[in-house]
Amino acid sequence: MPSIIAGNWKMNGGLAAAAGYANALKAADSKALLIVCPPFPLLVTFAAAFEGVGIALGAQDCHARPSGAHTGDVSAVLIRETGAAYVILGHSERRADHAETNAVVAAKVEAAVAAGLTPIVCVGESEAERDAGEAEDVVKTQLRHSLPAGFRGLVAYEPIWAIGTGRTPSTADVVAMHAAIRAALTEQFPETGPATPILYGGSVKPENAASLLALPEVGGALVGGASLKAADFLAIADAAPSV
Ligand code: PEP
Repeated sequence: MPSIIAGNWKMNGGLAAAAGYANALKAADSKALLIVCPPFPLLVTFAAAFEGVGIALGAQDCHARPSGAHTGDVSAVLIRETGAAYVILGHSERRADHAETNAVVAAKVEAAVAAGLTPIVCVGESEAERDAGEAEDVVKTQLRHSLPAGFRGLVAYEPIWAIGTGRTPSTADVVAMHAAIRAALTEQFPETGPATPILYGGSVKPENAASLLALPEVGGALVGGASLKAADFLAIADAAPSV
């Protein structure tokens, strides 16, 4: 399976930037599976730009209901209609800014799958939890309660303290956590868990991508800040081991 390199634009970017960005990605013909996750209003723009090209599109959230009186929210059904195939769920910024619990994330995962989207479910510990030696327990609890029965999708390990800070965990800590996540997924989902892609996220940049992406059980990266420049995003994808 090729490495999966997903770019989370967060609340950045605009119409003007999207066209040049899409053209740069198309011209690069990356060996990795690229997934661009822009703000909702840019999904349709990117879908048109990526038509017939093997670059995937994802949203950054969805509502758990297919429709209804939920002002400001967007359903998984509508996201799928735009041409997006993926949706990031349970990002630590959503868990913090919108008080999303594991149960809320699980309901969104179910809605996403029902709509035909592949969820990218984020888990990760805070710095205080890591310092207290609780990182693996925190992540395992998130997996147990954020992933519904029959889960099919991707998991992204994103230590909260590494997001947007320029700091990354040690190699040993990434290896240990990804092994723990693999074991937990295999126990929870004996059929799909052994092959569920596990991405690493948190300050991935062109300079550190090769070493992170070469680690066992790291199936790719979820990239925030460095995904905003096409050249950096592509350099990260180029750093992925070839299959
Ligand atoms: C993220 O928010 O998913 C992320 C990994 O951000 P950054 O790469 O900027 O740390």
